[in-house]
Amino acid sequence: MDARLEAIRDTVLARNPGEREFHQAVIEVFESLGPVHDRHPEFLEGAVLERLCEPERQIIFRVPWTDDAGSFQINRGFRVEFNSALGPYKGGLRFHPSVNLGIIKFLGFEQIFKNALTGMPIGGGKGGSDFDPRGRSDAEIMRFCQSFMTELYRHIGEYTDVPAGDIGVGGREIGYLFGQYKRITNRYESGVLTGKGISWGGSLVRPEATGYGTVIFAEEMLKTRGQSFDGQRVVVSGSGNVAINAIAKAQALGATVVACSDSSGYIVDEAGIDVALLRQIKEVERGRLKDYEARRSAVSYVEGGSVWDVDATVALPCATQNELGGDAAARLVRNGLLAVGEGANMPSTRDAVAVFQEAGILFGPGKAANAGGVTTSALEMQQNASRDSWSFAHTEERLTEIMVGIHARCAATADEYGDPGNYVLGANIGGFVKVADAMLAQGLI
Ligand code: GLU
Repeated sequence: MDARLEAIRDTVLARNPGEREFHQAVIEVFESLGPVHDRHPEFLEGAVLERLCEPERQIIFRVPWTDDAGSFQINRGFRVEFNSALGPYKGGLRFHPSVNLGIIKFLGFEQIFKNALTGMPIGGGKGGSDFDPRGRSDAEIMRFCQSFMTELYRHIGEYTDVPAGDIGVGGREIGYLFGQYKRITNRYESGVLTGKGISWGGSLVRPEATGYGTVIFAEEMLKTRGQSFDGQRVVVSGSGNVAINAIAKAQALGATVVACSDSSGYIVDEAGIDVALLRQIKEVERGRLKDYEARRSAVSYVEGGSVWDVDATVALPCATQNELGGDAAARLVRNGLLAVGEGANMPSTRDAVAVFQEAGILFGPGKAANAGGVTTSALEMQQNASRDSWSFAHTEERLTEIMVGIHARCAATADEYGDPGNYVLGANIGGFVKVADAMLAQGLI
């Protein structure tokens, strides 16, 4: 790495001790940026990197609530407002017991570049809580969301900060959060949250958007090698919103998705996953993947283990960070892998990314490949601002156009900086330059 960048990186790492995932995200971006700073000395003079790595604002708060037994529960809430050079802070909320400041900062940092790549007017932010929704009743989820918003409301707004969903936060949670925001502020401010229900300001295609977008991005990568999803054997990790919609889109394009997973195990369904059944189990019944096995023939469920033990020509990691390591990557490569599209944020470890890149695998990093979700959130904001709602077909067309554009920009940037086909470099530089230019134009803030 460039010595000037190394010094800045070391300061960032030392200043944020113990934030493992944040360090990982910062290191990965810095490794791409040497050539940019050779061409643009003004970015160093303007301390763009030092500013970019220091969130504009970090909010940590107590979330007290009562469970169904009447016991008091205390969780920790976060909102990291990372960068507003291009628009209001934008990014999801994650409810998961693993959430801590380092995780929210890694997600917020990635979000800055992702959002810049979409070309939409949105800055970067992220939030969430260490609350574990698993096994909680509807009433408990509602009380938690109301308590969370009772603090968060003062920090957000359609021109300030616009949260959405992420792991553990879907349409139900956004509903409770929106209701509480409206009640406290006495404002029907549709644009303050995205991922809303269709009848109250939501956008069609938002639920499908991240998974669909990942497949559209991967399809564009495959096209550069004269290939497509048609006939591919695909493995998807996860079985939440992103995974389910990635499976649906990949199969609509002619692929067979043979496996997916949850935190307890994975299923292998050689005939291709039955998306309707998967939706019924995961979205309607809020059940476990294990239930899929008994309801369909010729399916095997593997308790524990790794879904990456299943061979694939295309891998779509759609579960969570660092779920795909170097050994799994090497095994997939040995067994005929062509492409990886990251539906989750940073699902491949640094070792895995190195394996894919050395082997010449098409590798679409999350900050480009999973940008479809936030893209459609920005389309939702656009519809809210004009008090309009668009058809499914029109919204999907906009999403597709933007994802194809992100792919093209990453590819063109990689070419321009002398490393054709390196989508990590293309995404990092493409996103960075846009934000850096805006930061310089807006002065030292
Ligand atoms: N959580 C999603 C992401 O990682 C979506 C964010 C949003 O729609 O604001 O990009």
